[in-house]
Amino acid sequence: MQSRVDRQLRALALAKACAACGARVRTIGHLTGLPPREALRLLFPDRMAVPRGRSPDSPEWYHGANLLHRAEASIIVALYRRLRDADFPAGEALVGAYRHYIGICQPPHRISFDRAFDLAAHTDGLWLTDTRSFSLVTCPTCHSEFLAAFGSVARSNDHCPFCKLVQRYGTDPRVQGAFPVQPLAAPRAEQLGMLVLLQCSFGSSTGQVGTSSASECQP
Ligand SMILES: [Zn+2]
Repeated sequence: MQSRVDRQLRALALAKACAACGARVRTIGHLTGLPPREALRLLFPDRMAVPRGRSPDSPEWYHGANLLHRAEASIIVALYRRLRDADFPAGEALVGAYRHYIGICQPPHRISFDRAFDLAAHTDGLWLTDTRSFSLVTCPTCHSEFLAAFGSVARSNDHCPFCKLVQRYGTDPRVQGAFPVQPLAAPRAEQLGMLVLLQCSFGSSTGQVGTSSASECQP
């Protein structure tokens, strides 16, 4: 059992993490239970920096959104689902998923934290609503997980945004920019050292290493 102080500290830490991700006051209130006035006072001393604008409403938005939005929305909810399955509380799972998304997807990031919150809420039926509007389904072709209308079963890849991205990749610069080919990581110094050692032991076992080559293997 958490004490009252522990609960309050947890709520404040979560609220701070949400604000750092760009959350609106209303979203922070839903996730932490912090009253809006308190959230404003503690997290937004500069009132000009308060995020504004209409809150997202995802159940209709998602099905009309473009491919890159649907792919990034699916990535966030798949990351969120993984953390929930590992027993992270919903608020922490959402912040963790959003940070991971920012780390792995190229800017500009198309999904705001408030949108991610709205997507997760309508997937699990929590915070804002009791109704589930989305299911996370697995594409039978590429095995990626993507968002679909609640209760859907993916019998083909017709609605899989990732299969469509792959199909478009060669001809669509926007898709190429969003998912650039990653260069292979340069080997680190210790990996190069290991490579030299392997070459030396391979060479000496076959009698191919001369005196000059063998001297390169000295530490
Ligand atoms: Zn697919």
